[in-house]
Amino acid sequence: MSGPDRAGRPAAVPPAGPAAPGSGAPGPGVPGPAAGRGAVAGGSATAVRFRSLLDALAPIGRDPASGGYRRFGWTAADLACREWFAGEAAARGMDRTVDGNGNLWAWWGTPGPGAVVTGSHLDSVPNGGAYDGPLGVISAFCAVDELRDRDVTPARPVAVVAFADEEGARFGVACLGSRLLSGAIERDRALALTDADGTSLADAMRAAGADPRAAGADPEVLGRIGAFVELHVEQGRGLVDLGAPIGVATGIWPHGRWRYRFAGEANHAGTTRLADRRDPMLTFANTVLSARKKARLAGALATFGRVTVVPNGTNAVPSTVDGWLDARAPDEVTLQELVAAIGQAATERGQRDGVEVAVSTESVTPAVAFDPTLRQRLVAALGGGAPELPTGAGHDAGILAARVPTAMLFVRNPTGVSHSPAEYAADADCVAGIHALAAVLEDLAG
Ligand SMILES: [Zn+2]
Repeated sequence: MSGPDRAGRPAAVPPAGPAAPGSGAPGPGVPGPAAGRGAVAGGSATAVRFRSLLDALAPIGRDPASGGYRRFGWTAADLACREWFAGEAAARGMDRTVDGNGNLWAWWGTPGPGAVVTGSHLDSVPNGGAYDGPLGVISAFCAVDELRDRDVTPARPVAVVAFADEEGARFGVACLGSRLLSGAIERDRALALTDADGTSLADAMRAAGADPRAAGADPEVLGRIGAFVELHVEQGRGLVDLGAPIGVATGIWPHGRWRYRFAGEANHAGTTRLADRRDPMLTFANTVLSARKKARLAGALATFGRVTVVPNGTNAVPSTVDGWLDARAPDEVTLQELVAAIGQAATERGQRDGVEVAVSTESVTPAVAFDPTLRQRLVAALGGGAPELPTGAGHDAGILAARVPTAMLFVRNPTGVSHSPAEYAADADCVAGIHALAAVLEDLAG
């Protein structure tokens, strides 16, 4: 691949070969009939490029029935997204590197320390939306294009990144690519994680042509990041309420996942008297209600969004119910108190129901405060008017914040819906996000 094209224009050719599987969408800078909703004839080059890139990704891993995405780490859909990334890097003459953890990098300038890095992820939750993750990667490429349009020559290297397996949909641990890179998860523990079919991360990487022996903390790659800025669709209605298309993140609420096992006694639904039952579903249901009330009173969030029931028969009192609690709070003390209170309520209810309750912690992510200096530079680069707001959602930026100066930009989400096919951001707001990201990159790398 050719070297960095510092003064170059975005290549006016479609991404090469498999870059846009099945889409037929034009490459960057090439408006065409495939440009869809929001691509106005005669619109700005950025608006046309944005729509073209989003349309090119649109068919990959999409369930035609629901319109939702299933782009799990190291699956065929994930590999197709990786091909798309390679094509976009090549179309811009950016050197692409893949680190030992499967994170993708596209370089404008020579890879090395002090780089200004921007990007997000391309994988999805089950039945996810089109914007969570891809918006940050697409915006990163479009911001590079915009700077090149303006003949900006950055003094520092600029890199676009797509982190591997951010959602944790397949192996149960979120942000695996950034956690491995930064040493936030131990290599052997990560490689031994298994998916629902029993396939380990190591085997999944091998099957996708990656070498799991190269996984793990990578001080050299991490050491190249002078600053990381992740642009992301907002996963709430904060910016809608503020009437602003773009915001700067202050930090991420502490959050975690806990597994609850409710163990009772399987029995016949038609012949077992209510008084004789040890029904774990009853204890589980009361715990769900209790979690909701305690979270509301604490100004926090608590969700049971996943449950497995054994034997899961219509006419059977269950023997076991496993439910997973996701809890988030503005600060760590509130989170600890909330989780302890929910656990205590479950245990007390279990004693009344004759059900044993066991709680195990699956993961806890501490509060993240993004780098104050970098935040101030973002706010200033955006003209000083961008609001600042926290989020309850985890991101790769939250993992990296422990090791490198990190900041986030949010783009308004009109409904606040995320992790759903209904997730959406208006093209005009996405373009405003790209302008903002370009201004930030110019400031940081200039
Ligand atoms: Zn995301």
